[in-house]
Amino acid sequence: MKYCRFLFEGHTHYGTVELRAGEPWIVDLTAAPEEDLAYRLAHACAASLIPSIESFDFEPMPLKAAQLLPAATPSKIVCVGRNYRDHAAELGNEVPAEPLLFFKPPSALLAPGGVVRLPAASSRVDYEGELALVIGRRARKLRSDADWRAFVRGYTVANDITARDLQKKDAQWTRAKGFDTFCPVGPFVSDEVDPEKGLTVETRVNGELRQHGSTLDFIFSIPALLSYITAAITLEPGDLLLTGTPSGVGALKAGDKVEVTIPGLGVLANTVEADVD
Ligand code: MG
Repeated sequence: MKYCRFLFEGHTHYGTVELRAGEPWIVDLTAAPEEDLAYRLAHACAASLIPSIESFDFEPMPLKAAQLLPAATPSKIVCVGRNYRDHAAELGNEVPAEPLLFFKPPSALLAPGGVVRLPAASSRVDYEGELALVIGRRARKLRSDADWRAFVRGYTVANDITARDLQKKDAQWTRAKGFDTFCPVGPFVSDEVDPEKGLTVETRVNGELRQHGSTLDFIFSIPALLSYITAAITLEPGDLLLTGTPSGVGALKAGDKVEVTIPGLGVLANTVEADVD
């Protein structure tokens, strides 16, 4: 199953995604994952005003021709820092003994194709290409030997944009990780890949390869992360878990195009511009 979120005839829709000659296409409209808490809350008042998908006449279209939206509607975005040994080393950090967690706010979400805005408060904004999990079932106090896949709806691509100077300056990472547009996610969600078999995470800036890592090099495995996180925090359907970035992080500047690619999950492409008031 592969699906995306996109705008069609003025409404938010979910679409079924299939590969046609190697290119992702939206082949049909599909119902929203009903259990998504944030989606339900956002539409609680307007539900009766949203037309049913049967009332739309939809013709298949290439994914790249669609006006995509962030691939998930999380109530929270939980992120893991330093989950690749070589990335911890490149920033001069020790390999952590326990997962290092932080949040990004849902207000930081950015659609594929959207513009990352460089805030005036920072002089160093980095890309961090990452695999993201989309939670499918409420997960609380999962044991590390639980059937964790039953709680994961699928996987997508994320870019954990970071104001590196503010991350070092501020006692908390909230601002450095939380600016508007600092969490591009998409282009689609798929449950047809297996990170435990190794997914390649690559980041390119203006076409030049900057990051190349494999999920086989995680310090903390997905079940270990889910057990550690849900011991403290209940994960809701639609929530995102960003699993950390490999080495090769670097700065973005206005005019750049940044692309994060994971085979089977497509290319998450965004442009970069200075913020404007
Ligand atoms: Mg990160």
